[in-house]
Amino acid sequence: MEPSVFSFRQRDALRLDLTDRRDEALQAIDRSLSQVVREGNARQAEGALATVAMLRQLHQALDRLAMKEYGTCQRCHGALAFHQLTADPLATECVACQQGSTP
Ligand SMILES: [Zn+2]
Repeated sequence: MEPSVFSFRQRDALRLDLTDRRDEALQAIDRSLSQVVREGNARQAEGALATVAMLRQLHQALDRLAMKEYGTCQRCHGALAFHQLTADPLATECVACQQGSTP
């Protein structure tokens, strides 16, 4: 299968979406941790940890985008469709592999 090739415009749109999500995640972590400090709320601490895990995935996606590996299926090395990535910018496998229909 062909690796994914995005236009500059598509690549910019994906990068913008990922950086927006990263900034939102950072703000969410900030809010959760302030609440943890103020109230010692364990649920807020768990929320912050989950957001840190998502932030890590966003960073990895941005790294892959910079390395032009973004949008290439990590299982079959085929191309992910642009619309799949706009729906789920953290997707690392094509729809066929996610559904288990490739060997
Ligand atoms: Zn695949």
